Amino acid sequence: MYDVNKLREDFPILSRTIYNKPLVYFDNGATTQKPRVVVDAMVNEYYSVNANVHRGVHFLSMRATELHEESREVVRNFLNARSTNEIIFTRGTTESVNLLAYSFGEAFMKEGDEVIVSVMEHHSNIVPWQLLRDRKGIVIKVIPMNDRGELLLDEYEKLFSPRTKLVSVVHVSNVLGTINPVKQMIEIAHKHDVPVFVDGAQAVPHMPVDVQALDADFYAFSGHKVYGPTGVGVLYGKENWLDKLPPYQGGGEMIGSVSFERTTYNELPYKFEAGTPDYVGTTALACALRYVSAIGMDAIGNWEHELTQYALRRFEEIGDIRVFGNAAERGGVLSFQVGNIHHFDLGTLLDRLGIAVRTGHHCAQPLMQRLGIEGTARASFGLYNTKEEVDALIAGIERVRKMF
Ligand code: PLP
Repeated sequence: MYDVNKLREDFPILSRTIYNKPLVYFDNGATTQKPRVVVDAMVNEYYSVNANVHRGVHFLSMRATELHEESREVVRNFLNARSTNEIIFTRGTTESVNLLAYSFGEAFMKEGDEVIVSVMEHHSNIVPWQLLRDRKGIVIKVIPMNDRGELLLDEYEKLFSPRTKLVSVVHVSNVLGTINPVKQMIEIAHKHDVPVFVDGAQAVPHMPVDVQALDADFYAFSGHKVYGPTGVGVLYGKENWLDKLPPYQGGGEMIGSVSFERTTYNELPYKFEAGTPDYVGTTALACALRYVSAIGMDAIGNWEHELTQYALRRFEEIGDIRVFGNAAERGGVLSFQVGNIHHFDLGTLLDRLGIAVRTGHHCAQPLMQRLGIEGTARASFGLYNTKEEVDALIAGIERVRKMF
């Protein structure tokens, strides 16, 4: 039995009001709210453990290091990675892609080599490849989609050439909600001996992810989208790949030994973690992952699926709403336009009713170009959202529509 009202009690912010209206928070795709246990973990670490990790022989430093490394084990277990050597802590998905584009690009790509991305990528899985293109003259190829928002797998297969070095694709679209068939896409890439990076920013908070079952070579997510703190995220990589990649940034932690003549690098995963890590953030991230695991990722996914189906039915009832994305496999993201109302006006007026939705291009301008629009309003669901909140959104939309 999924007791959403009980879960809501774990999130203090959900009981606040906005303009004297109960908060309806539907901007979970951008970031999620934090349960009390996650904030408590941070406060507790700062108040009673805080010391820099890895370099200390004193009690606090050793305790902080233990917490940080236990967190790596929690992430490993959450993703079902083989080893903690495969878990690199980053600032988030964006930094994970930049790390990969830089290091993989340095090691394995030269002018004319190709990376395959999809038309529905977030800018963070486009621009790092463009930076590499500027640096090295690589070629970016794009998987197209149909009007339902499903990637065309036949076209995808045709994009492979002897110059293809990597596929870099989003697991769940932050605009369309499409759950891409990444397992199948990875199989196809591996037939061509091409490794695959998966952007899991919108997948990890909503479904169980098993990197071994997917056979993903690289996988990334952000802590703040899975009820954890801002400023910390993960790049998973198969050890045999990570071993072959050069470091991304230089500094403390990532070295073996340094002299002015020659520096050697630390082993995995530290080779990719220059400088003081966000060790308080990693503790809190582990706390968030334990929290969602205790609820059950399947249970969260099922609840959000139910909410999404309910919202889609209610949208149909009121009519004159265009929902972008209608894939057979879809998650709890609804991008929509209402009549001729500009999405900014819609978002601003909904805000006055206490309803937080995102508006704009959602960092996916190439996808907007494909859809022939400038932007949408977007409601994205989290584990604590309710059908009553969907009803409030529908009532809000009706109200705004009457005003126009
Ligand atoms: N990829 C997808 C699909 C996203 O939705 C987002 C954020 O919205 C990102 C990447 C970037 O995540 P972050 O800003 O946490 O690095």
